[in-house]
Amino acid sequence: MSNHSIRFGLCAEAAKPSDTPVQCQQCFKFGHPREYCREIQDICRKCGGNHTTNNCTANGAKCLNCSDQHEANSTLCLKYIEQQQKIRKIIDDYTSEIKVPAPMTTINFPSLTKTYHSAHQHHQADEYL
Ligand SMILES: [Zn+2]
Ligand SMILES: [Zn+2]
Ligand SMILES: [Zn+2]
Repeated sequence: MSNHSIRFGLCAEAAKPSDTPVQCQQCFKFGHPREYCREIQDICRKCGGNHTTNNCTANGAKCLNCSDQHEANSTLCLKYIEQQQKIRKIIDDYTSEIKVPAPMTTINFPSLTKTYHSAHQHHQADEYL
């Protein structure tokens, strides 16, 4: 349990984990926030050039992540969708892990011993019928 809390941080505590990929607002690559960006200068969101988006002179948008005709922060970006699916899979794995019952350990809980015994008696009654 504690391992998961470290791995997923605040997401694990939230009722609904966020499936929004982390995108850098400086270089528009996925997987790191702006604070961890290694890029020295701003990258254009529109064309991926070495200038700020406001100074862009490009006619059309060209995504720096997938080379398609949209801005780098578009939710239609294939790279964005790919990242989102990865996150959703991690969330799915994580939530299904919590739901998995652990029958071997429940027997050791004193409060559950009663349930275990009555279940056992039911089983014996079935045999008498
Ligand atoms: Zn970056
Ligand atoms: Zn540009
Ligand atoms: Zn794209």
